[in-house]
Amino acid sequence: MTNIALEFLSLKSKECSGFFLMSEGSQIDWAAHDNNSAKMIEEFRDFDQTIQNAINFVSNNGETLLVITADHETGGLQILGQDNGKVKVQWGTGRHTGIPVGVYAYGPGADAFTGVMDNTDIFTKILDAVDYSNLSNSNCLN
Ligand SMILES: [Zn+2]
Repeated sequence: MTNIALEFLSLKSKECSGFFLMSEGSQIDWAAHDNNSAKMIEEFRDFDQTIQNAINFVSNNGETLLVITADHETGGLQILGQDNGKVKVQWGTGRHTGIPVGVYAYGPGADAFTGVMDNTDIFTKILDAVDYSNLSNSNCLN
């Protein structure tokens, strides 16, 4: 779905300032709520492929900023070690946690996303990256 959205939006936005796309791997959260490690890993693999495709788009496009993050951690998963070739994990909860999440950025403006930040800072950093106050009001989807 992300690939189709990128293709559609890049085609439709050629005559305007560009586009914003948010693509969510929401079922990672669902699996963590269920403390289902196998399903979570399966969903992370799908999300990893989506990220690779987005990185390829950014590398070819050269004008796109890619930001990857989560709105929260879920499950408090801990990796305890290995036992007979299997990874031992322990879930702390079936709910969202306050554990910090990573923020990764690639492309023009990525250097603004370094260090420790509040999650609400991401909103203003993205607005700054797209020079929001100078965007045209044209409708790109005509
Ligand atoms: Zn959730």
